[in-house]
Amino acid sequence: MKHILTPMILAAALVALPASADESTILDPAIKAQAEALMAAGLKDDVGLEFTESLTTEIGPRLAGSDAEWRARQWAMVKLKDLNFQQAYIEDFNIPYWERVTETASVAGDNPQNLAITALGGSKSTAKGGIEAEVVRFTSLADLKAAPADALKGRIAFIDERMVRAQDGSGYGYAVAKRGGCAQAAADLGAVACLIRSVGTDSHRMPHTGGMSREGALGALPAAALATPDADQLARLLERGAVKVKLNIQVKAADSAASGNVIAEVEGASLKDEIVLIACHLDSWDLGTGAIDDAAGCGIVVAAAKLIQDLPLKPKRTIRVVLYGSEEVGLYGGKAYGEAHADELESHVLVAESDFGAGRVWRLTTGFGDGAMAYAKAMQVLVAPLGIVPGDNSSKGASDVSVLGNLGVPAISPDQEGTDYFDLHHTPDDTFDKIDPAAFRQNVATYAALTYLAAETGWDFRKAAKPEMTDR
Ligand code: ZN
Ligand code: ZN
Repeated sequence: MKHILTPMILAAALVALPASADESTILDPAIKAQAEALMAAGLKDDVGLEFTESLTTEIGPRLAGSDAEWRARQWAMVKLKDLNFQQAYIEDFNIPYWERVTETASVAGDNPQNLAITALGGSKSTAKGGIEAEVVRFTSLADLKAAPADALKGRIAFIDERMVRAQDGSGYGYAVAKRGGCAQAAADLGAVACLIRSVGTDSHRMPHTGGMSREGALGALPAAALATPDADQLARLLERGAVKVKLNIQVKAADSAASGNVIAEVEGASLKDEIVLIACHLDSWDLGTGAIDDAAGCGIVVAAAKLIQDLPLKPKRTIRVVLYGSEEVGLYGGKAYGEAHADELESHVLVAESDFGAGRVWRLTTGFGDGAMAYAKAMQVLVAPLGIVPGDNSSKGASDVSVLGNLGVPAISPDQEGTDYFDLHHTPDDTFDKIDPAAFRQNVATYAALTYLAAETGWDFRKAAKPEMTDR
């Protein structure tokens, strides 16, 4: 266990910042100038795009626990060493394993036609050769849960709920509940399978996969997402009368498969035991090549750290880049990291994860102690020239690092433009060509500047408000 005394000494030595502290007076001009130079370099960066192109081309899809995810870890180790990171290593862990084998659906009876579906992660197999059953439509998970006890016996539940398109992706939080909960809720009412309208905002015949709630590798029932036009089609058929659907899903599952987190470091100077952690996830769903989710995030944080590493002087604190494994199937990498590093949580001064595509950063949200709001302001002012507006102070960090954020580690979220993100998310269309290089580079610039600032200033982002300040 590491006891880090420096932040406490530092916090005690700092004069309390008045709430109205002018950010220009707290940010050392030399640090500011270096951060601005990093921003300029980030806007011209090629390392991140090359990293992303290489990962999505040479490895392609990287399903959690698969051989492909293993190859991605080996690939990443070679890349990170080639980029001259002082340290690169893998922390192994195991996960329950699931993969799709076949998945088909069709309407039976007088209107026979195929439906575009994809199994949800954790779906059980149907009987060999498939099942055929009547479909019962609901407009939400709550609606399904409220159904009478016999409403679904021997039938297929269909949750036909639309997702709202929003710049900050906030429609996802509501829409994803049905993906997680449909199978169990339907099983509780005697259903034989569950179908959902894809958690997505496009109108293409590309169903969106994604994980569902499960114990171990498998959830409660066979479960699949319909592409948006196919959900429309099924709803129209149901308006005309009873509909039976044939569903054939076959999967492979195992209790345990190998996964791991790949970690690289830029070792700090005078405060090297203090860690600024920037992250992404290396695994992806199997349908596309996981470009926006989340090879782009890995390219962004690796490139940002590389820019800082190439400076003539190392920053005070250590920058740790974590390429998490098995995020998609339940934040396994984030949880494994939290357990492996439980003794050094106090030395994590700031965490951030890029896991929302490659759209430009439009808002900077923080999750700091009340006494550290002047630091939030200083960060927001620093990146404002990149077209970024200030957000609130509710961040716990995205995806895997939220495990740390929820344990009280300060976090930032450089919020990305996500209006179109859920058109592609978890579909076969999540491919490298969808990344806009200019927007991607603006992310690199943002991460480079903010990571450097956090590593070089020695600021304590946990800082609680001084009682005498709140009394005034
Ligand atoms: Zn992701
Ligand atoms: Zn994802």
